[in-house]
Amino acid sequence: MLDQENIIEKIEGAIKKSERHIGEGEVASYIPELANVDPEGFALSIVTTGGEVYEYGDLDTVFSMQSISKIISLTMALMDNGKKVVFSKVGTEPTPYKFNSLIPIDDRASNPLINAGAITTASLIKGEDVDVRFERVMSFVKKLSESDDIKFLYKIYNSEMKTTDVNRAITYYLKSKNIFDKSVEEVLDLYIRNCSIGMKPTELARLGSVFANGGVNTKGERLVSEEIVRIVLSQMASCGMYEESGRFLMEVGFPAKSGVSGAILGIVPGRCAIVTYSPRLDESGNSVRGKHLLDLLSDDIRLNIFLHE
Ligand code: GLU
Repeated sequence: MLDQENIIEKIEGAIKKSERHIGEGEVASYIPELANVDPEGFALSIVTTGGEVYEYGDLDTVFSMQSISKIISLTMALMDNGKKVVFSKVGTEPTPYKFNSLIPIDDRASNPLINAGAITTASLIKGEDVDVRFERVMSFVKKLSESDDIKFLYKIYNSEMKTTDVNRAITYYLKSKNIFDKSVEEVLDLYIRNCSIGMKPTELARLGSVFANGGVNTKGERLVSEEIVRIVLSQMASCGMYEESGRFLMEVGFPAKSGVSGAILGIVPGRCAIVTYSPRLDESGNSVRGKHLLDLLSDDIRLNIFLHE
């Protein structure tokens, strides 16, 4: 809930202030198809736990979830296998290394929100083959976002599949450590398909609002257990913003997950989910304008979860 005075003015003021970061950072190009976007594209969507929506900018933009899909993989892996199995295969600790680094892998990935960890959670999603597993992921995303219009972005998928040697290497390494016994290609395929799910800002914000609301959607249906919501949000808080996670939590003060397409999903428990979209990224892979806007909103609407009131 955001029931406070002048809320619209505060949101619009923060957007205005974030304009000073337009032009900073670079659009991701290591997946060639990701470079085909308007670098100045911008959107903000906030969905509160009560279902109110505040939305601005290019609301019809469809972006790929990329790493934000890691929270879906984690949620489904937990639903399908339970906490004990999942965290016997992937760790819970932040890492100072890049999201696609091989370094934090020892016997297992350091956390579920870097590539190695999300490849691990993708390997734990049940279903007889990749099509069935991905169908389950899509229908869960549709349910959470209350939209039948969620897309599979084939061009993004195809472009990443052709260039994903680092993720393939990570997947082989995990298999060599007996993290899963499925084939490398089927595990990698599901991971990349999940990254290629396309959505609009408010669809993602609505999905996030279920997590902000303890796992229950605005119709009162429980879609995720309270325990899983707690696990996912705590991992987002400690590991969701790549190697800037600690600083982001200190400055902004709520769980968030970013993706290299330029979207960030922030979740303020009990209050709202916030999606920013702006594709120019910093060195870590976080949207420059997006993270500044979340910081401004956090200050102006007092969203930091560590404030005492
Ligand atoms: N599909 C991207 C990759 O695996 C996701 C990276 C991200 O958004 O952090 O490289």
